[in-house]
Amino acid sequence: MNLQSGIEKIKKAFQVSADVPMKQYTRFKVGGPADLLAVPKNRQELLAILAAAKNASVPVTVVGGGSNLLVSDKGIRGLVVVTSHLVSEIRSKKKGPDDTILVYADAGERLSAVCRYTVTCGLTGLEFCAGIPGTIGGAVMMNAGTASQGICKKVHCLDILNLDTLAVKTVTKQDLVFTYRCLELNNHLILGTVLALTPGDPETVKKTFTANMKHKQNTQPMHLPSAGCFFKNPGPKSSAGKLIQDAGLKGAFCGDARVSDLHANYIVNCGSATCQEIIALKKRIQKTVFDRYGIMLETEVKVTGNRGEKK
Ligand SMILES: Cc1cc2nc3c(=O)[nH]c(=O)nc-3n(C[C@H](O)[C@H](O)[C@H](O)COP(=O)(O)OP(=O)(O)OC[C@H]3O[C@@H](n4cnc5c(N)ncnc54)[C@H](O)[C@@H]3O)c2cc1C
Repeated sequence: MNLQSGIEKIKKAFQVSADVPMKQYTRFKVGGPADLLAVPKNRQELLAILAAAKNASVPVTVVGGGSNLLVSDKGIRGLVVVTSHLVSEIRSKKKGPDDTILVYADAGERLSAVCRYTVTCGLTGLEFCAGIPGTIGGAVMMNAGTASQGICKKVHCLDILNLDTLAVKTVTKQDLVFTYRCLELNNHLILGTVLALTPGDPETVKKTFTANMKHKQNTQPMHLPSAGCFFKNPGPKSSAGKLIQDAGLKGAFCGDARVSDLHANYIVNCGSATCQEIIALKKRIQKTVFDRYGIMLETEVKVTGNRGEKK
C-alpha cells in the first residue's frame, strides 16, 4: 500500500484531521501541515489509531507538548499522534528504593502538573524542572533538565509501547540508556512514567522550586515562541549560550527568527518565522562560533518533518 492510500484508509475509519498546520502544535509556532493528526483521548483510542497506521504502513510521529520541536515548513508525512490530551493521572505508589516514594504519571501529563503535585506532597527531586514546559513523557524522552542535572536521575521505570509490534512492557532504569538530553528509545512511545522521589521538608521544597522558577523567568525569554535552548552545551563546563553571546550574536536575526537578547542560546520567533529562517540562523551561529572557537555546536532542539516535496 502506498502512503496516500494508507492515509485515505485511516481518514475513512477514524476521526482524524488532515493537513493540520504543525505550528498549532509547537511552542515555536512553526511548521507545515501534518498529513494526518490524531489527538487521542485515552489509551484505547491511541492503540486503535496506532494499529491502523501500522496496518496501512503509515509512518507515525509522536508529539507531546511540542516544546522541543522545530517542524519543517513542508510539514510531516504520515500520522502525527499528540499525547497531551490523553486522559492522565498522577498518583503516589509505594515506597521505592532508599526510602523514596514512587510517583506515577501518565506520559501526556504536563511536567508542570507533576512538579506541582510533588511540591504539594513535599517530595524533593524535581525542583530543577521548574518552568520547563511540555509533558512528562517528552521530558523523559529528552532527559530534560538544567546544565547540571537531567530528569533521568529520578526515573524509576517506564511503561513503553513498541510502535512496530504494539506490545507494551515495563522497563526499569537499568535497561534504559540516557545521555545528555536524550533517552535512546527507538520507535517506542512512552505511556507512563514512574519517578522515585525523596520525602523532604515541604517549605524548603516549595521555596527552592519558587526560586528556580523566578530565576528561569528572569533569565530566559519564556513569553516568546521558542523551543527552549537551541544548542547543547559543548561540555559540562562550557555553555553554548556564553559562546554565542561572546561571539556577538545576541540580537542576530534572519527574517522573524532572532537570537534572544535575554539568553543567547534561545532562538525566538518574533512573528511569523519559518523553519527555513530558523535553520539559516542556526547555521550562521554554528559557523560564527566554529570560526571563532573551533567548537561545532550541536542542536538540542529536535528538527523533524520531511524536507522532500509533499506527496
Ligand atoms: C520556554 C522553554 C523553556 C525550556 N526550558 C527547558 C529547560 O530548562 N530544560 C530542558 O531540558 N528543556 C527545556 N525546554 C525544552 C522542552 O520543554 C523539553 O525538552 C520538554 O521536556 C519536551 O517535552 P514535550 O512534551 O514538549 O516534548 P515534544 O517537544 O513534544 O517532543 C520532544 C521529543 O520527545 C518525543 N516524545 C514526546 N513525547 C513522547 C512520548 N510520550 N513517547 C515517546 N516519545 C515522545 C517526540 O517525538 C520528540 O522527539 C524548554 C522549552 C521552552 C519552549
